[in-house]
Amino acid sequence: MNRYWTLSGKPLGGWPDAETFALHEAPIPKPGAGQALTRTIYISLDPYQWGYKKRGTEPAGVPCHARTVSQVLESNLDGLKPGDYVFNTNGWSEYGLMGERVWRPGYMIPRKLDPARGRISQAVGVLGMLGLTAYAGLVVMASPKAGETLVVSAASGGVGQIVGQLGKARGLRVIGIAGKEAKCRFVTEELGLDACVSHLSPTLPEDLRAACPNGVDIYFENVGGAVFDAVLPLFNASARMTICGLIAHYGDAPGTDARAALMKRGEAIFAACNVTVRDLFVGDFVKSHHDVFLDEVAPLVASGRIRYREDIREGIENVPACFSEMLRGDNFGKMLVQVASDPTL
Ligand code: NDP
Repeated sequence: MNRYWTLSGKPLGGWPDAETFALHEAPIPKPGAGQALTRTIYISLDPYQWGYKKRGTEPAGVPCHARTVSQVLESNLDGLKPGDYVFNTNGWSEYGLMGERVWRPGYMIPRKLDPARGRISQAVGVLGMLGLTAYAGLVVMASPKAGETLVVSAASGGVGQIVGQLGKARGLRVIGIAGKEAKCRFVTEELGLDACVSHLSPTLPEDLRAACPNGVDIYFENVGGAVFDAVLPLFNASARMTICGLIAHYGDAPGTDARAALMKRGEAIFAACNVTVRDLFVGDFVKSHHDVFLDEVAPLVASGRIRYREDIREGIENVPACFSEMLRGDNFGKMLVQVASDPTL
């Protein structure tokens, strides 16, 4: 039998709760012509998935969307055989079909994984969409120059960890922003950033100012809210800001335009300092930069020069609870749920 989660049909307001999702059991699907049956090993839980659900992108009755790492069990697809590992989109489900009719566009396109290139779980993290997000938002969009100061929020998260280390590799002074002390320590001691300030501190604006004596040249925005307000007065002339995400606002009431509110608060400073603000959508960079990013980052990860922390939980039955924890920031590293054993370990 296949166990999978769907939306329960309860109206989606601020944050998800125990009644938002429903668990189902059904026979394992059979692959037709041009399809392969895969068993999910890792389910990736990411903040964007909540927006996806709140915007109604997800049809009723189908497994909740998620990027996954899976193993092929049966295949009627050219180029895939039983035992192969794939990146695909089985969602919150123990099994799923791959094949022309169920493939999705953009960065959701399934691909075969080479376990020799890195841990298969990293295909949904540092060696996949999150790594490309960090690379595109920093290296491509913000054109960093050695000696500049970069600030990255959610610095211990799936994207932030990579942004900070790519910044260090390019000779920047890098300041992370994170929550609890253990995360701030991880950011400086394990990722090697120059400093990390806590957004839980009542003196965040002063702490950040002290950590950035030469101001801020690049801000990689993952959060919004009070963190954005603390960075704003520190922008240097010709600074660049990449808006990657605004996780502090993902529980806002539907229809609230958090980005517009931030831009309004920043208007005068952006104009006075000639700050370039750019929105990032990783899907725009898949064709143009995926290979170049992987060629640079995969060897750095393999050699340990880029470190990557994953927060791997277990059990299909725990997925909704893990999802809520991740949205609350209670993850420590890239959040994954493992639902079958990983034969590559
Ligand atoms: P993670 O879930 O790995 O990390 C998010 C971290 O944000 C949490 O661990 C928490 O860390 C922090 N956080 C959560 N809530 C708040 C809050 N209210 N105030 C301050 N910090 C908070 O996320 P990802 O790294 O996967 O994603 C980061 C951002 O990138 C998200 O906004 C996501 O939507 C976006 N994204 C955008 C893409 C694009 O194409 N533009 C593609 C992929 C991701 P702490 O405990 O330190 O506060």
